[in-house]
Amino acid sequence: MSNILHRHTQASLPTAVRGEGVYLYDSDGKQYLDACGGAAVSCLGHGNQEVIEAIKAQADKMAYAHTAFFTSDVAEELADFLMPRSPGMSKVYFVSGGSEAMEAALKLARQYFVERGETGRRHFIARKQSYHGNTLGALAVGGNEWRREQFKPMLIETHHISPCYAYRDQLTTESEYNYGQRVANELEDKIDELGSDTVIGFIAEPMVGATSGAVAAVPGYFKRVREICDAHGILLILDEVMCGMGRTGTLFACEQESIQPDIVAVAKALGGGYQPIGAMLLSEEIYSVIESGSGFFQHGHTYLSHPMTCAAALAVQTIVERDHLLDNVVDKGSKLLSHLQSLFSEHPYVGDIRGRGLFIGLEFVQDKANKTPFDPSLPLHKIVKQASMAAGLMCYPMSGTIDGRLGHHILFAPPYTIQNQHIDEIGDKITQAIKHSFQQVGVV
Ligand code: PLP
Repeated sequence: MSNILHRHTQASLPTAVRGEGVYLYDSDGKQYLDACGGAAVSCLGHGNQEVIEAIKAQADKMAYAHTAFFTSDVAEELADFLMPRSPGMSKVYFVSGGSEAMEAALKLARQYFVERGETGRRHFIARKQSYHGNTLGALAVGGNEWRREQFKPMLIETHHISPCYAYRDQLTTESEYNYGQRVANELEDKIDELGSDTVIGFIAEPMVGATSGAVAAVPGYFKRVREICDAHGILLILDEVMCGMGRTGTLFACEQESIQPDIVAVAKALGGGYQPIGAMLLSEEIYSVIESGSGFFQHGHTYLSHPMTCAAALAVQTIVERDHLLDNVVDKGSKLLSHLQSLFSEHPYVGDIRGRGLFIGLEFVQDKANKTPFDPSLPLHKIVKQASMAAGLMCYPMSGTIDGRLGHHILFAPPYTIQNQHIDEIGDKITQAIKHSFQQVGVV
């Protein structure tokens, strides 16, 4: 009997004991191909000796020094590495994960306007279906209804507009581009409704990850969003916690949208799971307002810029760049996508196969022509997860793809180091898992 409050009290979890390359092993010696990097985390796979040595070396030197008293060489080095590679950002704030990075972003955005004397700005606008973390602020701006529901009375007021989800919402009468402009313009309508002098910023994941299954916006959408933010003087806050740090083939996902945010949050693939680290990056404009104002960002956590986490992230990022792993993300990403398309595009219950880089989603439907989802009471995501684990494959299945309640998908986010044989293995194992799952629910 475990003394841990696990995610589910009835879950019976295998015990992970070892990781090597793209594989994890449990205490029975069973091997799992980690095709989702946990939750798009393990970008270098498992057991990378260089990263482990860097962590050990930092532990030998100094594990911790509080940031109210000291800075550290390793945190400064990581910042020096990231800033010139960022989408025009000026400073970075290191935290312990994605939710903390988003909380910091929300508070910094508000403080920026307060320091400018615009204290009436209090509204955030975000998108339905997005996920920004589980702390109260991050949960409030998140748009996944199921996650928010029971905590609603405790959440700050946030306004949500439609996602950019062409597979579901593009009308047959409009072009892809026009669809993107239409949903982007919802932002302007919402700003007008609230009054632009009351709005702080707009928050979006450049690619929606866990909650929708690797949904990218259509071309032109984010450019229009940037234009609207600029026209109304509000901040664009991008959440690249899941899709950033190389996952989509560029270090920052927004590079592929040719836009610069005012604030961007990253986490997961920053430290690759070797240590818990997230980061909030901010523009020069925001920094200069704080610097010439109070000079003090009224926030902070005990483990800001933790040297061990910075050492791990610096090692991970150095390896990703030195070994040109983003080329492999692009190459193997397009191979994995094609392979999944060849296996499932004719499958009666696979409606959409999508993604960028090694960030790929597969959406299930009951009726392909009408894109009708399965009954939400069917725990298809759990069944697929169980069947995948039985087959020795980790993928990231989820329900509520469409609106937090309807829809099922699986997400693939394997390590950037995967090779062709792993793509074949993912294909074989997921074919087996999907076949067993639909046999089990009795629809084939
Ligand atoms: N933002 C996005 C887009 C995420 O996918 C996640 C986690 O899945 C978070 C924020 C929260 O990150 P964390 O779980 O590290 O707090």
